[in-house]
Amino acid sequence: MLFENGDRKTIPRHEFWERDINSQPLTSDELERYDRQLGPGALTEAGQRQLRDATVLVSRVGGMGGPAALMMAMAGVGHIIIAHGSTMISADLNRQVLGSEAVLGKPRAAHFAEYLRSMNRFIEVEAIDHEPDDGEARELARRCDLVLSCPPTFEERLRLNQASIDAGIPFIDAAQWGVSGTLMVLKSPRTACLECVYPSVPPFEELFPVVGAISSTIGSLAALEAIKILSGIGEPLWGKMFSYDGYGGIPTVVSLTRNLECRCCQEAVETTGE
Ligand SMILES: [Zn+2]
Repeated sequence: MLFENGDRKTIPRHEFWERDINSQPLTSDELERYDRQLGPGALTEAGQRQLRDATVLVSRVGGMGGPAALMMAMAGVGHIIIAHGSTMISADLNRQVLGSEAVLGKPRAAHFAEYLRSMNRFIEVEAIDHEPDDGEARELARRCDLVLSCPPTFEERLRLNQASIDAGIPFIDAAQWGVSGTLMVLKSPRTACLECVYPSVPPFEELFPVVGAISSTIGSLAALEAIKILSGIGEPLWGKMFSYDGYGGIPTVVSLTRNLECRCCQEAVETTGE
């Protein structure tokens, strides 16, 4: 099993996400639109087509999920599903970049989706005006190539983790508190899962303090990991937790060890035989 006992061996980049790269070539308009991200050190044309053909769920598109969805939209992820309930309030405006003063008091999902659509005419954005329950999360994950989890609550994060495992797709978890944040790139049972890290829901206060600069940082890094996985570039942080201590300006990366008692991973092993 990769990543156990801190193994730093990497997983081949395409192993989790095989795409038919024989899809339609990029049009001249698309080539012009994505010109600055195509080339050595960035994306290939095949990778750009893979982005175009991809579907990603971003659940909660506030401080972290908003920038994550925005960066994926601008990069050309072809179908983005965003889920976020309730209306925009004044206290959201320190970090929720998809909103504005004009959205105060209005439902977030529909307005955020409209903003994302305005940023890239080549993509589709689907808005869900609530946080998915267990069944809906499972159904949504089955339609996706990757789930990007940005909710503040552990219940929702663990629900999306389970849905991703059931669908057999990569799962990126982003979290924040104060001026610090964490990012995990997972694909159980080949790596640990979120329930390996949090076997039970820890004590938690939903209305915690957070500065928008760390939200956007973690959200953008989450989007970058998604783009790497979907387009087949670079070395995704498979099975690792990246954390950034904003107070000290200290980044840390640790390899996560799978919990052999983990219910989620055990079910995934039985399903996949890995
Ligand atoms: Zn697990």
